Amino acid sequence: MLSFFVDRMPFDARHQGFYARIMADIHALNADKGKKLPKPDWIRVKAPNSQGFKDTRDLMRTLSLNTVCEEAACPNIGECWTQGHATVMILGSVCTRACAFCNIETGRPDLLDPHEPRNLAEAVGKLGLKHVVITSVDRDDLDDGGAAHFAECIELLRMTAPDTTVEILTPDFQKKPGALEIIAKARPDVFNHNIETVPRLYREIRPGARYFHSLKILQHVKELEPKSFTKSGLMVGLGETKEEVLQVMDDLRSAEVDFITIGQYLQPTPRHAPVDRYVTPDEFRYYERMAKAKGFLMVSASPLTRSSYHAGDDFAQMKKNREARLAEDA
Ligand code: SF4
Repeated sequence: MLSFFVDRMPFDARHQGFYARIMADIHALNADKGKKLPKPDWIRVKAPNSQGFKDTRDLMRTLSLNTVCEEAACPNIGECWTQGHATVMILGSVCTRACAFCNIETGRPDLLDPHEPRNLAEAVGKLGLKHVVITSVDRDDLDDGGAAHFAECIELLRMTAPDTTVEILTPDFQKKPGALEIIAKARPDVFNHNIETVPRLYREIRPGARYFHSLKILQHVKELEPKSFTKSGLMVGLGETKEEVLQVMDDLRSAEVDFITIGQYLQPTPRHAPVDRYVTPDEFRYYERMAKAKGFLMVSASPLTRSSYHAGDDFAQMKKNREARLAEDA
């Protein structure tokens, strides 16, 4: 009954938080009603307790850096942090959006930390990263959505770690004129913006974002900086169909996206959208084959795939794939 009214609610930015809270309550009610799906074997991961994990955690604490690995309760944290691979989340730890899949805190955002770019550069140096992924919360409260802060981080890394390649995973900078130009001018090696889910589920899963806006920014960055690689990802297991996933692939290829990631959605808390189903490893292999056939330079599709999972190795492979394709076309 509640969803009848929610479906008819006026839909603009003023209602995003309210709408998301109601949707979270509906999900919690639904989760209580329905039986929680048991996690299949292929999703289970080991508890993080290696020395490498602890060292990475201590470094992040010492430098006052937030990571999406922790904030989003990523299942790969044990593996990644053991190798010193952490994805730093800049612009604070509080997001101005309230997506139904995301564990990051929503509310009044933090003041910008002017030391963050320097601390990030120090962490990259200490971890000896060849490839770093930087992401952020949404900052709809800032005039540029935080684009200049992203650019400052990239520019400082170019000076302090010139051999390190930089991948950024950004919000959509909706209604922030000039933000993408600032980002493109900083020339990240990889520009990643996640499409997250199929368009039919946007209102429920990603209120406050627009599917075609996300596609447009991927396309626009490619036009501004054709040499940068573009990357996008989606979660499956939220209620989408196979046909819808294939359509998203086509849409991303139309926006000339180079790299697609597809991973299993996991419900962070009972207040978040429930898992509709656990996609089998076979189905992930099917998506991988289809994405390759559709022309992506690089594909990562597996239950535990996340945007930044194995990002360095994948970047190196993507560069090789581009060179091979250019040689074929010559
Ligand atoms: S996959 Fe990404 S977000 Fe998850 S732990 Fe690894 S680096 Fe962090």
